[in-house]
Amino acid sequence: MAKKNISLKLPKKKIPPPQLLRGMKDIYDQDQIWFQEIRKAVAVFARDFGFSRIDTPILEQHSLFVRAVGDQTDVVQKEMYAFVDQGGEHIAARPEATASIVRAYLEHGMLSKPQPVKLYYEGPMFRHERPQLGRYRQFFQFGFEALGDQHPVLDAEMILLGERLLASLGLKVVLQINSIGDENCRPQYTHILKSYFRTNKARLCADCQKRLLKNPLRVLDCKEPSCVGIAKDAPQTIDHLCTACKDHFVQVLEYLDELQIAYELNPRLVRGLDYYTKTVFEYWSDDERFRDKLALGGGGRYDRLAELLGGRTVPAVGMAPGFERIVLLLNELKTYEPKVYAPQVFVAPLGDQARKRALKVYDGLRAAGVRVAQNFSKDGLSSQLGMASKLQARFTLIIGQQEILDDTVMVRDMETSSQEVVDYGKIVGDIKKRLRKK
Ligand code: AMP
Repeated sequence: MAKKNISLKLPKKKIPPPQLLRGMKDIYDQDQIWFQEIRKAVAVFARDFGFSRIDTPILEQHSLFVRAVGDQTDVVQKEMYAFVDQGGEHIAARPEATASIVRAYLEHGMLSKPQPVKLYYEGPMFRHERPQLGRYRQFFQFGFEALGDQHPVLDAEMILLGERLLASLGLKVVLQINSIGDENCRPQYTHILKSYFRTNKARLCADCQKRLLKNPLRVLDCKEPSCVGIAKDAPQTIDHLCTACKDHFVQVLEYLDELQIAYELNPRLVRGLDYYTKTVFEYWSDDERFRDKLALGGGGRYDRLAELLGGRTVPAVGMAPGFERIVLLLNELKTYEPKVYAPQVFVAPLGDQARKRALKVYDGLRAAGVRVAQNFSKDGLSSQLGMASKLQARFTLIIGQQEILDDTVMVRDMETSSQEVVDYGKIVGDIKKRLRKK
């Protein structure tokens, strides 16, 4: 192989170090602890409610989201990270995962499995939005989807799952709920809504004047003060539902009553994406500082989405909360303490020779399932004991010159400060016995 000359010279001109992209975030320290706690809760609830995990790619065909989310939505029109790749293919970084899940369901013939197929996921989503409190351009969601069943009890199960999961993290939520009808009743309602807004057109914001033509439902949840004022008195979807949608909605509410899950009917809740039908809902923080500011998650039914993607009818319901907003609340409200698993044993070598032996002891204990910690680059006894008590280790194993000569290890009980000499060859069994006693 030809040798290459690799230059290790640094450039003469100092260039500033690279920085995070605007709206993106590194997740480390305490935030990472919260992320792990959320992931653990998600896995436990998925197991208990019978959902299995699916991971879909971050990159998908651009057309998937145009067809599923809708070409008139903000997500598709303004917020997609889209590009043409080296092969000339139009690609998008997923702005949400439901479209991908339905694509996977159709592509892998999940229709032939027992229905509903219950899947969950977690991972990063991408939307080029204006960054603000709890709003990033890369953010993480977890989500649960139940596909292939139209029964309203599934809507209630989904709402229950989200509410209980957030409660397990110490977060009380206000559940807002609405029904936006289906292909039978929505066109007529949209027509009525359009004529209402048309009479007030001049007072609508520029965006809503455009939305009025293609997506009048979205005018209902516009945050511009002038639009809020008009939307307040707009005709409500629930007054214009067909019998099937009305029955469905009433049943969902009855299940929620039975479960004693409180809800607020919000006639202006429509959700941003085109694929929703019938039930839509959102979880909001119940803390007064965040009450109307932070939606923690949202979801609803999407009975026609599979058809939008060219498949058969697959009635389905799902929901997706966002990690960052949950973390924001966990940091602010301090209602939840993550479980800290203290090491059971700290291994403290004194000097170079002891360090080699300590490495072996460390590896042996770890392999035997003991939670073990160390800081091998430190030499002094007092600094290592200090660290062991800071970590709340039950025992510290001290290995010094004498212990090397005698082929032993000194076991220090960190509660009583008593010390005992144990044969090096028996140390793993000895420690396991001591831990069993405690
Ligand atoms: P959506 O489907 O847009 O309502 O999103 C569901 C949940 O994902 C929201 O309630 C948020 O918790 C989270 N989410 C959505 N967009 C963002 C964002 N840009 N930054 C952080 N979290 C987000």
